[in-house]
Amino acid sequence: MRRFLSFPLLLTLSLPSFAVECSKCLDLEGFISPEKISEDVFKMVGKNNNENKNDAVEIQKRRGVIITGTSPSFPLGIKCPLIDSEKWAIDYSHKRRGAALHKGIDIPQPKGTPVLATASGTVVGKFINANSRKGIEIVLRHMPEQTGLPFFTYTQYTHLLELPSIPIGAKVRIGDEIAKIWNTGVMGRRIRRSALHFAVFYSESPNWTNSGRFFAPQNGYFMDPVSFFSETGPYESKEVKSLPRRAKSITIPYQLNDGTRYPSNAKRIWPFACKQI
Ligand SMILES: [Zn+2]
Repeated sequence: MRRFLSFPLLLTLSLPSFAVECSKCLDLEGFISPEKISEDVFKMVGKNNNENKNDAVEIQKRRGVIITGTSPSFPLGIKCPLIDSEKWAIDYSHKRRGAALHKGIDIPQPKGTPVLATASGTVVGKFINANSRKGIEIVLRHMPEQTGLPFFTYTQYTHLLELPSIPIGAKVRIGDEIAKIWNTGVMGRRIRRSALHFAVFYSESPNWTNSGRFFAPQNGYFMDPVSFFSETGPYESKEVKSLPRRAKSITIPYQLNDGTRYPSNAKRIWPFACKQI
């Protein structure tokens, strides 16, 4: 009897859409159904981009994925993990066989290094991404009062070692360990080094969705992940790009290995701990 019952069960589990929607998200503040998110925003976050790569790239550029020229700056005597050659918004066409942009920054660190919550917030996404280059992923939602920024922000951390044990809906505090880093995700010709891919989204709307496969903020935009750490802004990519060169060097708040933060009242910190040297 069991054998006959298991067939319809498997069929149900393999159905797309609602069968795989994030059931734990339903009660969370701001959650809305995926149908309420525009197709542009889904293309911005990377859904179905193989269908029309040029279209997706144009949407991503309009929504903030442009080279701004920012660079992170840390105080003398402090050693923080740095972004390598894989900087914000660089062209990835050569890596993707077709139009593509790098929608984040990469910060290499050895396998297993703790990834820190860059601000206090709530876990709104955890994804295995079995067939994606992103690898294992976690997404946090931050209220304006949690970041000191005048909009809702979302931070995305990918290439994680394993699916974090923190449940969807859990609240995390700035500087908490939320994951460990590795190099997960479908690879191209080369083996990916162990590195965090870090990205930031923002929106004036408090609403977001988790389709079970994708996170998306309603009417959201990408933010240059370096300008996310700026005390004063601007945060909109075109405005950041037009800043004088000197203003593009952004002083980054950070946390040391012992948990102390600089400045002590920082509401946003670098995603890896720094060391005193
Ligand atoms: Zn990356």
